[in-house]
Amino acid sequence: MKSLRLLYILILITLGAPVQAQIKEINPPNWWAGMEHSSLQLMIYGPGIGSLTAEVQGKGPLQKTEVENPNYLFLDWDTQGLAAGTYTLIFKEAGVQKFSVDYQLQARKPSSALRQGFDSSDVVYLIMPDRFANGDPNNDQTNQTFEQANRDKIDGRHGGDLKGIIDRVDYLKDLGVTAVWNTPVLADNDRRGSYHGYACSDAYQIDPRFGTNEDYALLAKTLHQNGMKLIKDYVTNHWGLEHWMIKDLPFKDWIHQFSGENGYGQTNYRLSTVFDPNAAPSDTYLSEKGWFVPSMPDLNQSHPLVLNYLIQNAIWWVEYADLDGFRVDTYPYGEKEGMTRWTEAIMKEYPNFNIVGETWYSQAAHVAYWQKDSPVGAIQGFNGQLPSVMDFPFHMAAHEAFTDQPSWNKGLVQFYDVLANDFLYPNVNQLFLFIENHDTTRFNQLFPDHSAYKMALSILMTTRGIPQIYYGSEIGMLGDKSKGDGDLRRDFPGGWPSDSRDAVRPDQRTDAENKYFHTTRTLLQWRKNNEAIHRGKTVHYAPVDQVYVYFRLLEDQWVMVLANGSNSPKSIDLQKFKEVWTAPKEAYWVFDQKTNPVPKTLTVQARDVIILSHR
Ligand code: CA
Repeated sequence: MKSLRLLYILILITLGAPVQAQIKEINPPNWWAGMEHSSLQLMIYGPGIGSLTAEVQGKGPLQKTEVENPNYLFLDWDTQGLAAGTYTLIFKEAGVQKFSVDYQLQARKPSSALRQGFDSSDVVYLIMPDRFANGDPNNDQTNQTFEQANRDKIDGRHGGDLKGIIDRVDYLKDLGVTAVWNTPVLADNDRRGSYHGYACSDAYQIDPRFGTNEDYALLAKTLHQNGMKLIKDYVTNHWGLEHWMIKDLPFKDWIHQFSGENGYGQTNYRLSTVFDPNAAPSDTYLSEKGWFVPSMPDLNQSHPLVLNYLIQNAIWWVEYADLDGFRVDTYPYGEKEGMTRWTEAIMKEYPNFNIVGETWYSQAAHVAYWQKDSPVGAIQGFNGQLPSVMDFPFHMAAHEAFTDQPSWNKGLVQFYDVLANDFLYPNVNQLFLFIENHDTTRFNQLFPDHSAYKMALSILMTTRGIPQIYYGSEIGMLGDKSKGDGDLRRDFPGGWPSDSRDAVRPDQRTDAENKYFHTTRTLLQWRKNNEAIHRGKTVHYAPVDQVYVYFRLLEDQWVMVLANGSNSPKSIDLQKFKEVWTAPKEAYWVFDQKTNPVPKTLTVQARDVIILSHR
């Protein structure tokens, strides 16, 4: 793919004098007219190109920022007020024109700036593209990439790709999903373990084993045509050692340099150090600046050129592929001020967009610290600007609450305790909720009975926030963290042409798989249009005898959830709730999928859940 792009750039070079310098990269490869981010910074890469100056034909010289490496040019171009079209960049050496390059300022899609990001009306489906479906076996290995597909290796590439997802959009739509978050699909040319995509080797190219940039834009378009959104997994914290810029750094400080090989120094993963008043300074330093792993150089978001590169790259993908949101990997590992500027710049460009940060903390206060306008952050004069944060405490409760030996403080009461911390968050509807993801043991592995899944999914789908589910769990797939991350990322059955059956087809699923699917579909399809869940007030009752009851209330709309975490049936007198809700004669019973009478006393079976609603 590199050679093709080089060829394209060379074709664009129109000059009289012999070419002394070769342009290998221009980032971003194009921009758009009418952007909020109109102060464009072009990064141009080629042998010895740093000695040149540049101007836009008919518009004047571009301001150059000197960097250490002579193979780079950083050029500032104020595009404000410029019309869409082709502009000619003229490169000169000692005042003499050497060559020129055409550069596009494209026209934006109408209303691009006002795009609506994912929100609490959505259900997000997390896909690991290498493991979901192999829509194109011809791209399983390429001449430009090291690692070849081998399904026998748990941590190898398995060949799944963007076409596999596009081909299965109907399945997602039928399930009731309204947004897809897929783990990274940018070029990752690591020699091992490249399937997860978190070690980027080119931030402007989709990995050819997943498809092309055009395929990625097609995925967004196909999802949009089916009423679904696309969330890009963006990694601001690090790239891979194989990234072409890492192999020839513009300047030493592009990444955080330590004394190890390639400048490596390990992070301590102690994310609390960035606000802990008692933290030793060296711990805070390592948390933000240490590398996630030795193969992932840590980017220096404090440096304005690095930060601007990451901002422009993120905006480029939103505009190019027509995205609906970002999930930002390892958010608190980046430098706090730099990350805040990054988030701010994207939200300024797209005020209705959404960004969720991976805020992996067990304490609600620590998660809340990062959310925009957080009262917790304000204690230290910090406003993280991040619209959405991941509710890891909810996730941790989900991994413990379905024990068959519940107690006073263990069981469904753990959800009750999580929600008691909601006063810490400026916007609870923007909490990103999940019971599992690609980094955790699957819920069905921990609690391998359908009743636990039904209760957990019910709570996930009716609690405040933006729920996310993980591919395959809707058919009961298993995955054990203790066996390695690869086990959490098993192939979806049927995604490969050689698979014996295709589990997206009801007639090829087992009875057990169909039962999981039916429960999931019932909840997702019903949730779609239930505004009381999307933005209603929560009122919950302290669990009694392991029965947890809560309401979502929005004007005359309501939802009532009764979950019984005990091992015996329980009867609940609905009069108990008359202070917030009047029991109607009849209601919509979600799992029965019909309107039925509501008795004065409701019996919930052992380890079961009932959901009633106004509709
Ligand atoms: Ca493939």
